[in-house]
Amino acid sequence: MIETSDPHLDMSKMGKLPMGNVLEKQRGEYRVFSNGNEFLCGIRSRLRKSLVYPLSRQRRQSVDSIKGIAQVDPVAVGDIVRFTPSDDESDRGVIERVEPRKNQLSRRSPSPKPLESVICANIDTLFIVFALSKPVPKTGLIDRFMIAAEWEDIPAVIVMNKTDIPKDGELNRIREIYKPVGCHILPTSAISGEGVDELKSMMVNKTSVLVGPSGTGKSSLLNKIQPGLGLKVNEISKATGKGKHTTSHLAAFPLDDGGFVLDTPGIKQLALWNLDPDELITLYPEMEPLSGKCKFGLSCKHETEPGCAVKEAVEQGKVHPERYKSMLGIRSELEDLYGPKY
Ligand code: GDP
Repeated sequence: MIETSDPHLDMSKMGKLPMGNVLEKQRGEYRVFSNGNEFLCGIRSRLRKSLVYPLSRQRRQSVDSIKGIAQVDPVAVGDIVRFTPSDDESDRGVIERVEPRKNQLSRRSPSPKPLESVICANIDTLFIVFALSKPVPKTGLIDRFMIAAEWEDIPAVIVMNKTDIPKDGELNRIREIYKPVGCHILPTSAISGEGVDELKSMMVNKTSVLVGPSGTGKSSLLNKIQPGLGLKVNEISKATGKGKHTTSHLAAFPLDDGGFVLDTPGIKQLALWNLDPDELITLYPEMEPLSGKCKFGLSCKHETEPGCAVKEAVEQGKVHPERYKSMLGIRSELEDLYGPKY
């Protein structure tokens, strides 16, 4: 839980202020949805100054070298805020307080010093959208989203879109890898409509986020779920078979049946803040029980060390080789970022 309250604010007044959900950021202002109305809000500067993001947020041991990470913006899409509406009833207001977040997804802001840019907060379900083909699903990428969800305790669903393109082998491969992990896999098609009603029902009265590479059909699925949304659909590049990168514009949309949904165009990866490489396997549910069981305990890199419990589990068929491969890849990325501990 992240504490974002201002200790100097008068709490008795605060409770009487209207509450709203941040739908979008627009050049330093925030579009806030409250009781069916939208307000364009600025932010009280004392709130900006007094924000505290204690490191106690991290559930696990933190890495010393990256302590004290600054955040780019105090308010994120998905935040629940208290705000003062303007007196002249002009649908404008000022955000006074950000309610404590239950979770958040971040990316790394491009700068020499690591800056955490929070993409969205208070997520109930993360839908990881991949396509059976065009572009082909890469398990290493699926796992990057899966472990970010696990890290923030957000339930994840793998959506395999474009089932209208006959690729049964691919769907079976994904099922074989992820069923044992206990992840729900939902086959969909924005063309034939397969799985769309189920996807829609999973979003009612929830805050849902769609992530995945561009071109997998996130906008098309959302347009199918709620035709009024009119989200821009990407063209697939004929040369690469990949979605063309469009400008990222992040917004939450209120759903007619209740709840909010966020499309995350242009977001390729989620950042893992303060994750110790040695703890990575605890974010793979099937490897988690093996944590500390290797001969070299928590310091085992699970590569060539003797008596590695993870490698044994791969040999015994208890851990899928693709998941093992992706774990090693992400582990070495984390070591590059934060440096090995030993
Ligand atoms: P996004 O980048 O993930 O939002 O993907 P888009 O919704 O923009 O879709 C990318 C391309 O895939 C577009 O040409 C869509 O028409 C196409 N597409 C989306 N969903 C499906 C689907 O279920 N089946 C097929 N065959 N094509 C789809």
